[in-house]
Amino acid sequence: MMDSSIQKAMAERGLTRRDFLKFCSTMAGALALPRRYSTRIAQALETPKRTPVIWMEFQDCAGCTEALLRASRPTVAEIVLDILSVDYHETIMAASGYRAEEAKKATIDAGGYILVVEGSIPTAENGIYCCIGGRTALDLLSEAASNALAVIAVGHCAAFGGVPRAAPNPTGALGVMDLVTDKPVLNLPGCPYNSVNLTATVVHFLTFGELPAVDDLLRPLFGFGARIHDNCERRGHFDAGDFVQEWGDEGHRKGWCLYKMGCKGPITFHNCPAVRYNDGASWPIGSGHGCIGCSEPDFWEWGAYNVAELQSFAPPTTFAPVQLPEQRIAPASAALMGGLAGLAVGAAGAAAYNSLSKKDKHEEVESAPVEEE
Ligand code: SF4
Repeated sequence: MMDSSIQKAMAERGLTRRDFLKFCSTMAGALALPRRYSTRIAQALETPKRTPVIWMEFQDCAGCTEALLRASRPTVAEIVLDILSVDYHETIMAASGYRAEEAKKATIDAGGYILVVEGSIPTAENGIYCCIGGRTALDLLSEAASNALAVIAVGHCAAFGGVPRAAPNPTGALGVMDLVTDKPVLNLPGCPYNSVNLTATVVHFLTFGELPAVDDLLRPLFGFGARIHDNCERRGHFDAGDFVQEWGDEGHRKGWCLYKMGCKGPITFHNCPAVRYNDGASWPIGSGHGCIGCSEPDFWEWGAYNVAELQSFAPPTTFAPVQLPEQRIAPASAALMGGLAGLAVGAAGAAAYNSLSKKDKHEEVESAPVEEE
């Protein structure tokens, strides 16, 4: 499909203009852009254009390709396959052998393409641990990157080396950014990466003609600018000190914080809590397992169940004194309500009392240093 827009591709799949505009709005949200940018995104995506893609796989498990193919809404696979058009992808392309290699060479010679890399690149022994068609991954990456507009490393392996790079790293595995230094490189780490972030990156590229702003690890800020811990649905339990102590215990069944089970959310930057996986169905913490930190370098070395180190800090002593609320239910009133309104209401009153008592204790503790001043 050479001359098509994303909207046209969607229409051919029975999706309406409303779906298209919703998609543009979702992308504006994913890119952390103000809502008004959805119009600009729509205008950009309506323009027929084609940006070829070469997708290379090296030392990987193909999990990121699986994540791409499992995507829907409307669909990274559709965007990449129909609009960007993957000219070369060893796993999903129809052509094979010499025809596939010819297609890749023609795309490289023509230039103006995006190179997507999945998997780490072995460098030990001149790269012999990963060869395709008799050529090393090192050689193939160098050739494929030579004429690319930009290189997107998808998954932890391509971004930071992944499992192959874990100690003792027998193959001398490296990530793309260690090897490609003369082209714009963007990392979408994760194990697997989240295909929503590739879609958003592609949409940003098509809309603004450049890759999105990145952090010092070359991760786009829209997807990796905030800690998981700061947006986690279990954060209230962390703050309250409600921790799962053992798999399957009462706290685990109630959805309490997984910090003591090794959750790395406090030291991991990723937008998992917002975009989740599998069309937003769930994500690791949502399904009861702590974050393993798969968007951070060297996470394999951390140990999934080792507790993350937290910075200890004390609040400043210059806060204003805490003001007690005026309309407070006194413990005696709560007891009286319980006596008058019967057992059920009494239980609710007792609960209210307990909660107020707990709050009183908190406030005493918090205000103590202030009072001492
Ligand atoms: S430690 Fe993990 S589970 Fe607990 S609030 Fe932070 S990110 Fe969520």
